[in-house]
Amino acid sequence: MAENRFSSGSSEEQAMDPSLNPVSEEVTIDSRNKMFVDMFKEFLHTKPNPYNQLVKSSSEGEAVVIDIGMLSKFSSELADFLVAKPDEMFLISQEAINQVDLPAPVKARFSGLDDMVNIRDLRSSHIGRFSCVEGVVRRASEIRPQIVKTEWECEDCGDLITQPVKFGYVSKPFQCNCGCRRFKQTGKKMIDTRMISIEEPFELTEGEKPSQVNVLLTDDLVSPANRRMSDPGNRIKLHGILRETPKGKLFSAKLDFFLDANHLEPTEAEWRTIEITKKDEEEIKSMAKDPKIYDKLVDSLAPSLYGLREIKEAIILQLFGGLPRTLADRTNFRGDIHILCIGDPASGKSQLLKLTPEIVPRGRYVSGKGVTAAGLTASVIKDELMGGWVLEAGAMVLANKGLLSIDEFEKMSNDDQVAMHEAMEQGSISIAKASIVATLPAKTAILAGGNPKFSRFDAYKSISEQIDIPETLLSRFDLKFILKDIPDSERDKKVVDHILESRKGGAEGKPEIEYDMIRKYIAYAKMHCKPELTDEAGKVLRNFYTRTRKKAEGGNAPVPITLRQFEALMRLSEASAKIQLSPKVRRVDTQRAIKLMKHSLQQMGFDPATGQIDIDKSEGGTSYTERTRIRVIMDIIEEMSKTSKSIKIEDIEKAAKKEGIETTDEVAEVIDKLKREGMLFEPKVGTVQKV
Ligand SMILES: [Zn+2]
Repeated sequence: MAENRFSSGSSEEQAMDPSLNPVSEEVTIDSRNKMFVDMFKEFLHTKPNPYNQLVKSSSEGEAVVIDIGMLSKFSSELADFLVAKPDEMFLISQEAINQVDLPAPVKARFSGLDDMVNIRDLRSSHIGRFSCVEGVVRRASEIRPQIVKTEWECEDCGDLITQPVKFGYVSKPFQCNCGCRRFKQTGKKMIDTRMISIEEPFELTEGEKPSQVNVLLTDDLVSPANRRMSDPGNRIKLHGILRETPKGKLFSAKLDFFLDANHLEPTEAEWRTIEITKKDEEEIKSMAKDPKIYDKLVDSLAPSLYGLREIKEAIILQLFGGLPRTLADRTNFRGDIHILCIGDPASGKSQLLKLTPEIVPRGRYVSGKGVTAAGLTASVIKDELMGGWVLEAGAMVLANKGLLSIDEFEKMSNDDQVAMHEAMEQGSISIAKASIVATLPAKTAILAGGNPKFSRFDAYKSISEQIDIPETLLSRFDLKFILKDIPDSERDKKVVDHILESRKGGAEGKPEIEYDMIRKYIAYAKMHCKPELTDEAGKVLRNFYTRTRKKAEGGNAPVPITLRQFEALMRLSEASAKIQLSPKVRRVDTQRAIKLMKHSLQQMGFDPATGQIDIDKSEGGTSYTERTRIRVIMDIIEEMSKTSKSIKIEDIEKAAKKEGIETTDEVAEVIDKLKREGMLFEPKVGTVQKV
């Protein structure tokens, strides 16, 4: 019976899942409830009341939303009764609404419950009660009709008998009052339904795996106008009855639950939900006046990590973000800044990737190979429990309006790679698979980290050869960084001193500005500062762009700076202006953006000063002949490593001779250099091995 349920309403005899049965236990209106009906009618006529407006504007299928706070003010008895016996209260409110004069039938829905239950705290004591939960839609099924009632005619006396759908099954009446047991089906009542799965919002989970709960949406909650609200990626608040459903087999003693939703509303949890007091505001304003604020923020990011100045600057700008804009021709430009860092293991990359999403609301950290079936973007998968094809949000959708940190970016699936193009540029993800066609929101800043193609950077190969990410996707990143772990005794000493210092609990380990304050600062800047690009600032950016392009014209490589980088420069400048709450993008902001852009271009092997792909830069400043020699020997070692891990230096010398490197000194020199740079090691005298 597990198959097919929910997937189609076409067959009347089809088994349906008990969990999806929206019909409550049969409840009748007794004398006490009759009193409640009268009270409710009276409530409907008190003012102000949404019902009063609805009387005028009601059209078919519309619902009247009753505020529980207002109901409680009118009668706490009614409100308490709703929470304790919602099924009965629905009947009472419906009866009351039916008795007042309305042009069309209207359904009662309730919202505004004070106490919200965390999904992880849902317990058996909540079953049957009216509850309120909030979460982000992770999965959503298609919208399908479902039978809730059937009508049968007795073949002997012609009486009509209504049968509710119980435990998901459509059944015939057992016997008519006339004693006849033969019936003919004459009608059925259907409603539209959708199953969704919501997970706890970010601020509750604190890095733990978020709890999830299934939710059944019916009727006008899935109307075309409301459907989008329950698409994956949206954050919603739900009121409804928690119902139990047997786990697995029908008569299993183990129970699971789902929320039979009565009311659904979108909620936004973004920067604006961060509480900023008057005192905070004053502090933020005075911080913004500090000419050193930019440096202080940058220094506060992972202070225990030595150096990495430019990438830390880039991340701080990313947190503030640029301004999204829509041109008159409806072209959209994103405000999100995307950053990529490709680095050797232990280059500090992973720490930054893990730390950054913790600073922002809706921040998430995933690993490219470890993401869910939905991947980074979205996918359509088969979920028998929810009934057929479901749309599942990937990490980028779930982090919509926040930041997504992706480690091992190069390991993402092919499907994701295609969808990332749209997501990173348009801020949305379109998906069309099976019968599902949808566009999901993904306005997410990406901080991606990747590994070099051969696990470590090879200083004698060009950078572009060593990045396993397609060029089209690379171009979506505003800034790119290469983090190499090259032994350098001077620097190494500083790094170690720095670590020792921060371990001692000295000033170096503690951020100058606490993350809590940084979060408030960013939230405030995002809400109150929309810096305008001045003519002067625009000119600086334009000059840099056109001059760099011009230099690259006669260069030895495809033009590395395009309009995409120009837009990136604008975003970075705006972010910089926001840091000082400046209403205008100033010269200093554009210069900061240009400085980072130049650094990023250089890291990728392009020299903005000459317009050349600068091999000296990307290959470590060795002479051409030496480089050729190193290249030849690296190739030999590469080739030999295929058959044996450790390689005799003798054999390398022989092979090198054939390639024109005559003296053993020359070979020894190169091997020494490679050892110093951590690319080779000597497992035993006379042999070398690749790291
Ligand atoms: Zn009969």
